[in-house]
This record gives sequence, structure tokens and C-alpha cells, in this order.
Amino acid sequence: MEKKDLLTKGKAKELFKTEDANKLVMEFTDDTSAFDGKKIEQLAGKGTVNNRFNNFIMRHLDSKGIPCHLLEEINDRESLVLSLDMFPIECVVRNYAAGSICKRLGLEEGMKFKNPIFEFFYKDDDLGDPMINDNHIISFGWAGEEDIDHLKKLTLEINDYLVDLFLKADLILVDFKLEFGKNLEKIYLGDEFTPDGCRIWDKETKKKLDKDRFRQDLGDVVESYQEIAYRIGVDLK
Ligand code: ADP
Ligand code: UDP
Repeated sequence: MEKKDLLTKGKAKELFKTEDANKLVMEFTDDTSAFDGKKIEQLAGKGTVNNRFNNFIMRHLDSKGIPCHLLEEINDRESLVLSLDMFPIECVVRNYAAGSICKRLGLEEGMKFKNPIFEFFYKDDDLGDPMINDNHIISFGWAGEEDIDHLKKLTLEINDYLVDLFLKADLILVDFKLEFGKNLEKIYLGDEFTPDGCRIWDKETKKKLDKDRFRQDLGDVVESYQEIAYRIGVDLK
């Protein structure tokens, strides 16, 4: 399918229109950003790993009955996806303490939670993606109660499937962020699931293999993404 005008240029991906109003080309770039876009670098090969990684995860979730926006992989950086009307919301699940929850609640990194913790954030870099709750979402008219319940249920189900998938490769899924959208009233998982938007540690050594390597200047960012991909069986070709 031919790529037409640029629709959205985000911090790590570009979306292009196609001749079909229902389908978009999603291109993963090598741009890597952190701290709401304040730190930006190009990391050679990241776009390719993330495209293949995301497609592997979305195919896996699809096989479990989770509706995902992926239609087909076009090449190493581009995939065809269903055009969604995105909720301006980030759905985060945490299995272990890391990142913003440590600062907010004074927790030590690595603490395992008794139950996965679900949190909503408002997707707005200028405001630093503030945490919100169901009442904000309903009062601002971003989603109704039924959709909110569905977003939580889908996100927690996805957590169960992915915790299992990573554990089989001796990897711990610490936390992650998802974005959902609607097409013809049906909710789909959109955007991406890649090491850019989650935390994954080696089970034995607790080595960080995700974007914290970039945030914390630990080096070997793309190599670590490739290691996770290799361990869970993603074909990087
Ligand atoms: P950013 O965090 O800067 O938005 P991205 O580079 O990930 O970074 O941008 C991709 C954009 O595309 C995001 O705004 C995301 O919500 C949006 N998006 C992802 N999947 C879809 C889709 N299927 N349809 C429409 N928009 C989408
Ligand atoms: N996350 C993300 N994009 C965001 C905010 C968070 O992908 O805009 C991911 C992040 O990589 C981590 C999880 O969501 O896996 C929880 O992030 P946290 O709230 O701890 O924020 P951080 O300190 O990572 O900015």
C-alpha cells in the first residue's frame, strides 16, 4: 500500500496516510527521547528492532484475543496499521517499583507489588504527562465509564500474557505503558509495545535492558533491545 502524506510526527514514530482512509503506515525511526522530549538522540538500528519487536508482541496478543491495530509488516521499519481515534491517555501497569512511582511515593526500586498497579496518565509532554484518574477522564469527555473499565481490563490482561512471555525467557516485566484507540466503536491496542515504553530486567542479574539504559546513560541501548528480542524469539532478520 502506497505511503501518502505525513499525518503525525511523534518522538519515535511517524504516521502516514494511505489511499485507504482506514489504514496508516507507521514508521519507526531511530529517534530516541526521554524526559518528555528533553533528551533526544538518534540510535542506529532502533527503528528496525522496535518495528519487529512490536509486531511480534502484537501478533502474540492478537492470538490471545486482544484486538491490536497491526495489519501487516511492510518492511524493516514500516507496518500497516488500522487508523484509530486515540484516547489522549496512557495506561500504565506496574509489577515492580521503578521510575515515577518511586519518586512519588518514596519507594525503593525493585520492590515487588502484591498486585499489579494500574495508573492513568494524561498524554501531554508540555504538562509532563500528569497522573489522572477515572473522574478526570469522564469529566473531560475523553471516555465513558464502560470504555474506562474496558481499558483497565485489557491492560491487565495484556500484563498477564506478557509477564508470562518474558518470564519464559528469564526476563522480568517491571512496568509498561499502552495507548488505545477506537475504530468503528471498537477499542484496539494502538501505538507500540517495545523496550522504549516498558521496563524489562534480567531475572537473575536484574540488569536493565530497556529505555532506562538511555535515560541513565548506561550504554548498549539498541544491543539490549536486541537481546530481549532474541531471548523471546523475535526474528530480527
Ligand atoms: P509521541 O509520544 O511523541 O506521541 P510517537 O512517536 O510514539 O510519540 O507518536 C506516535 C503517535 O501516533 C502517538 O501520538 C500515538 O498516539 C499515535 N498513534 C499510534 N497508533 C495509532 C493509530 N493506529 N492510529 C492513529 N494514531 C496512532
Ligand atoms: N512510559 C512511556 N511513555 C511515557 C511515560 C511512561 O513509555 O510517556 C513508560 C515507561 O517507559 C515505563 C512506564 O511507562 O515503562 C512507567 O513510567 P513512569 O511513570 O515510571 O515514568 P518515567 O519515570 O519512566 O518517566
